[in-house]
Amino acid sequence: MRMNDVIICWFRQDLRLSDNPALTAACERGRVLPVYILDDVNAGEFAMGGASRWWLHRSLESLERSLKGALRLYRGDASDVLLGLAECLDVRGVYWNRCYEPWRIERDARIKERLGAAGVEARSFNGSLLWEPWTVCKGDGAPYWVFTPYYRRGCLGKEPPRAPLPAPGGLECFTDGGSGPAEGTTGPGGLELPAEEGWAEKIAPHWVVGEEGARRRLEAFIQEGLGHYKGGRDLPDKPYVSRMSPHLHFGEISPNQLWYAVRGMGDDEHIDHYCSELGWREFSYYQLYHHPDLPRVNLQAKFNRYPWRDNSEALEAWKRGRTGIPLVDAGMRELWRTGYMHNRVRMVVASFLVKNLGIHWHRGEEWFRDTLVDADLASNSAGWKWVAGCGADAAPFFRIFNPVLQGRKFDPEGRYIRRFVPEIASLPAKHLFDPWNAPRGVLDEAGIELGVTYPRPLIDLGESRRAALAAYSGLRGE
Ligand code: FAD
Repeated sequence: MRMNDVIICWFRQDLRLSDNPALTAACERGRVLPVYILDDVNAGEFAMGGASRWWLHRSLESLERSLKGALRLYRGDASDVLLGLAECLDVRGVYWNRCYEPWRIERDARIKERLGAAGVEARSFNGSLLWEPWTVCKGDGAPYWVFTPYYRRGCLGKEPPRAPLPAPGGLECFTDGGSGPAEGTTGPGGLELPAEEGWAEKIAPHWVVGEEGARRRLEAFIQEGLGHYKGGRDLPDKPYVSRMSPHLHFGEISPNQLWYAVRGMGDDEHIDHYCSELGWREFSYYQLYHHPDLPRVNLQAKFNRYPWRDNSEALEAWKRGRTGIPLVDAGMRELWRTGYMHNRVRMVVASFLVKNLGIHWHRGEEWFRDTLVDADLASNSAGWKWVAGCGADAAPFFRIFNPVLQGRKFDPEGRYIRRFVPEIASLPAKHLFDPWNAPRGVLDEAGIELGVTYPRPLIDLGESRRAALAAYSGLRGE
């Protein structure tokens, strides 16, 4: 029976009204006090980067509109904020959807304990994963290490994921004019989440942030991309990927909503492949849950002895898209300009940093964390580890992406490169991927002077590849 109790719905990575189990349960129980807390205190070194803060700010504005101004925003230690609110406002319960980053798991366990001791009901729900990590294990109870059996046997072999819930009808929010701890922080304007000046304006036109934006993006993908997904997902110039990752990260849409929306379109290889990519997201969370030190350590310990190079000039050139390797530069500039990078190109730029430049994957992971709008501790750490070869189910180290061949194969007409590296756009496709090999006359005709209008390659791809393989075989020999 619905009562008049005040229940806090603590929004976290679930900034939506539909398919939000915590919100639905809170509504069933009483009047809802919707709260968001920016908790940099507990996040520590994993605090959100600039692009994420930009997204979060807009997503909270959108959520606040959906909640008709009832959302309260706080900054600080979530534990203190929630306990303080519970005390001041006679709150009977605090409900939230679970998150899986190790620092959040620890903090939330503490909060549950403190709330319980204060006589406040604390309930958590699954609103962000199709299969929670502890529900999937091998016959002997151990976690899977390899994606295919994890997904095929472990996940698909279980009950289908929970069907999405509708947005709760008759949502009644508790409002009392903003009393409680940290007064005056209501409204997204109360949280200052600045992104670097000028940068936010560049990113903004590429996205419609918020629950409605996520729904529209999904519709567009189903129309334009899904029918081409299996092969087309590797072509960075085509609209064949969903670009749902930031919406998923902030929970403006749930994986369940995506799963059932695409499954509802029929049964073919594209739909299966899209669902398996959602499976990779699940697997990233699974790895992070079972290896909480995933963001810091090499799961294959031999990589602790890899002779990484400390080269701040090369790192800076990589970040700014000035390496002189066109596909790498296009990817890094896409990231800087839009807050996003296509998956195929993420693999290429990551492989280039780690294997050709010999720079530690942590440096790349940190830059991605700061600049990606979909920056996600689980998927980012798992992605970098996969490319670097030191993860659970990683690409072998000797698989070193050649950015010239990758460009020819996946951007054959060079449209992606031309869009993001305009200073070489006039080169014919034959020379676009490796301008340093182009005849002088061709460069002159395209108005390019290497080292002046566009950088010479930072490194020789062949030599650096051989050096990386030699360093790796040194590890194996020990
Ligand atoms: P689609 O192809 O449309 O896929 C649909 C969804 O499936 C994605 O939104 C995403 O949630 C999931 N997905 C797809 N591929 C992967 C994958 N390889 N791993 C995990 N989930 C996947 N993804 C992030 O969300 N955040 C990150 O911080 C992140 N960092 C990465 C770093 C590196 C070095 C690499 C190689 C990959 C990283 N990825 C990350 C995974 C992947 O690149 C993105 O999820 C994908 O490009 C998002 O674009 P999309 O939504 O158009 O993908």
